Amino acid sequence: MIKSKLPHVGTTIFTVMSKLAAECGAINLSQGFPDFPIDAKLSELVNAAMRAGHNQYAPMPGLPALREAISNKVERLYGFRYDPEAEVTVASGGTQAIFTAIGAVVHPGDEVIIVDPAYDCYSPTVELFGGKPVHVRLGDDMKFDAEAVKAVITPRTRMLMINTPHNPAGTILRDADMRRIIDMLRGTDIILLSDEVYEHLVFDGEPHASAINYPELRDRAFVIFSFGKVFHTTGWKMGYALAPKELMTEFRKVHQFNVFSANTPIQHALAAYMMEPSNYESVPSFYQAKRDRFARGMAKSRFKLLPCEGSYFQTADYSTISQEEDRSFAERVAREFGVATIPLSPFYMEPPADQRLLRFCFAKQDTTLDAAIEKLCRI
Ligand code: GLN
Repeated sequence: MIKSKLPHVGTTIFTVMSKLAAECGAINLSQGFPDFPIDAKLSELVNAAMRAGHNQYAPMPGLPALREAISNKVERLYGFRYDPEAEVTVASGGTQAIFTAIGAVVHPGDEVIIVDPAYDCYSPTVELFGGKPVHVRLGDDMKFDAEAVKAVITPRTRMLMINTPHNPAGTILRDADMRRIIDMLRGTDIILLSDEVYEHLVFDGEPHASAINYPELRDRAFVIFSFGKVFHTTGWKMGYALAPKELMTEFRKVHQFNVFSANTPIQHALAAYMMEPSNYESVPSFYQAKRDRFARGMAKSRFKLLPCEGSYFQTADYSTISQEEDRSFAERVAREFGVATIPLSPFYMEPPADQRLLRFCFAKQDTTLDAAIEKLCRI
């Protein structure tokens, strides 16, 4: 009899809903991934790297050229330079970087504050390493509630996990939120894990409030990024972590025995592709147009959309349509109406009893969005 380390964990909702979408032929607005092709220049760069023979292990922390390119980009955007030698590590995706950061610093019995709804890998990863997830909730309108977070800080708090732009809520943290986080962490040795994988998907001209902007935060932070979200390559599973040298040293001790190093030809391609800022500068307006198209179409539906400030996710309230709980409602929407979505309850330790929310991914071709809207308006 196997003694499970994660007895209450099943298969992730993303896998469940994408599988359901495939089974019943539903339009898949569930798991977050684009359905359009990537830039041909980028795939050509990967092919060229393979043809040039870059097919063996990359250095453990990442290709020097890519780490350099990352440092340059981060400095350009946030005005602070991480040392590519010691403070930048290329990972096999954001989830792997989060796993590694938690594994590197969370000891058995340590408390880790997680703000629900939270991306589904956070809590199980903390538990795997013997940590104790301490869950609080976002406040009204899915906004960060600094008082709620501050109230659960104890001498055993090892880490606070934040996420902006937020998956699944689609809200962002702003300067005022970051200042409240600085205040609550001052005088503690709490490590911050700032999940910023949707860094370029911030809309309406708002700045991305990165932890990197704030010396009091970045000095104690792992900041996690993803190439998949920016360059429409989620299947490549490529991301990176930034942290001050002391933290990054611990991160790499785990990383080297977890994945050792990330995909070599893709690292070569990304290093070249990142040199051209327009390759990421065009992302906010590209996705903002998709957000707006989806919102315009859905205005004719019975769903009530929540504000979407960032990410490629739109959450919507269906309480005027049904009081059914969200997992079964999402299943029915997929089977009977032909659109797969993500229910919000799996992102909570204890979902709010009266909450009726679904998440829609709008990283889709306009034709996909229009077809989904038409179906959703029939509900
Ligand atoms: N980040 C993606 C989402 O939120 C899912 C990634 C995954 O399936 N692990 O939909």
